[in-house]
Amino acid sequence: MVYLSFAQPPKNTVSLVVLGTVQDAGSPHIACKKECCAKLFANSDPDRKVVSLGLLDSKNKKTYLFEATPDIAEQLKTMKRYASWKADELPDGIFLTHAHIGHYTGLMYLGKEATNAKSVRTYTMPKMKLFLESNGPWDQLVSEKNIELLPLENNKAVNLSSGLQVIPFTVPHRDEYSETVGYTIIGPNKSALFIPDIDKWEKWETRITDEIGKVDYAFLDATFYDREEINTRNISEIPHPFVIESMTLFKELPTSEKKKIHFIHFNHTNPLLHPKSAKSKAVLKNGFQIARIGQEFQL
Ligand SMILES: [Zn+2]
Ligand SMILES: [Zn+2]
Ligand SMILES: [Zn+2]
Repeated sequence: MVYLSFAQPPKNTVSLVVLGTVQDAGSPHIACKKECCAKLFANSDPDRKVVSLGLLDSKNKKTYLFEATPDIAEQLKTMKRYASWKADELPDGIFLTHAHIGHYTGLMYLGKEATNAKSVRTYTMPKMKLFLESNGPWDQLVSEKNIELLPLENNKAVNLSSGLQVIPFTVPHRDEYSETVGYTIIGPNKSALFIPDIDKWEKWETRITDEIGKVDYAFLDATFYDREEINTRNISEIPHPFVIESMTLFKELPTSEKKKIHFIHFNHTNPLLHPKSAKSKAVLKNGFQIARIGQEFQL
């Protein structure tokens, strides 16, 4: 039975903003000689930022950043612009997924050569925490107290406020220096899944379709559209779910489930970076969504 409630849900209390959609190495991509980046070396595209989400809690006047990317300076300014209050320059918390360059090296801008931050709360899984504590230059951020490392545990919720939770969960990935996590972000009304990097869906003991079923939005690894993009490197070295594989896996889902899926984390070669490409149109036609910088989602 559906109960109608006359109490208005709190409006715009918590929202997620897409601050970047590109794979670690950004776009243009170093040494790329292909057409995808040719024009971008001369004329950069302000929309090409490395993958990141901003979380705004207007009731408590707090901001949180998912990933510390090489584009962190602009991404923090963008997040501040989205805040309905006069937000601080630096976030109230940073959640890291893993130790690959696009996902944590932005932390360097919190150090002495840059803003010399004071104890920015940085949430990390055990191996990631140890990696930052025991390797330069990151250990200096810790000893100088530019960042304060807060431990995360697999599947254990962090309560940011009474109506806002973040839950990390481990996923299979190329874990040389740290484990890799995705996050479930649960707001007062809606929730989101964020998995920017994962090996093939089959390698995960959790069923991704079950997880999509539990949330309202799912931001999922879409590094490569298909294998045509990777003609210069051994495919087995770069295992990610191809967009065409994900679309096949999710094909039988009802429209309402498909609509939750927002592809993100695009390699410089990925045609989904172009909103007008035939492949972008095909993804939308199949009922899925493509994350675009600046999109805002109420939670
Ligand atoms: Zn990545
Ligand atoms: Zn390129
Ligand atoms: Zn990675």
